[in-house]
Amino acid sequence: MATSSAQIPSEFSNPNLEVLLSEEQIQTRIKELGAEITHDYAGRNPLLIGVLKGACFFMSDLLRAIDTRLGIEFMAISSYGSSTRTSGEVRILKDLDVPVEGRDLIVIEDIVDTGLTLSYLLANLKSRGAASVKLVALLDKYERREREVEIDYLGFKIPDHFVVGYGLDFAERYRNLPFIAVLKNPDLG
Ligand code: 5GP
Repeated sequence: MATSSAQIPSEFSNPNLEVLLSEEQIQTRIKELGAEITHDYAGRNPLLIGVLKGACFFMSDLLRAIDTRLGIEFMAISSYGSSTRTSGEVRILKDLDVPVEGRDLIVIEDIVDTGLTLSYLLANLKSRGAASVKLVALLDKYERREREVEIDYLGFKIPDHFVVGYGLDFAERYRNLPFIAVLKNPDLG
């Protein structure tokens, strides 16, 4: 028997999600950030460093909005110990494949929450002799900050809610949403 499309559960219109930032809002802001970075880095060949996995989606859209020569690299870090709360313990799970001495680095992160992960990462990259280290973050959950982090290029300030979509997950789910949403009831997944 044929199944009508109405019977297939949609992840994009899941009732447990409340849209906070639409696809259009995100893409419009990315174009603005890309134009700013294009202007600031003209002729400098910056190295964009994406923090896996969440920032990949933002990074791939952002770098196509930056019209200057650039390179890309990825790092994976974990700020969580055994529990799901930020512990302050930061581990590098995947390091850069190239030396960064003398390079202009632009770290790309999905969300800054307590700031523990980024303050560690930025200090670590500066200690490797980079010419400059700047930070681009799509979201700033400023109310929860424990460690001061300077965000040089920011997408949006957001209130203290757990958000998913556009790279951000809940137990690996929801990364594929083209928008950012508040997960209303985490117990429902
Ligand atoms: P921080 O060290 O700033 O507390 O942690 C930042 C990391 O925590 C982010 O890269 C992200 O992986 C995770 N995180 C913080 N807030 C949220 C949120 O609202 N939703 C999701 N999916 N991850 C978050």
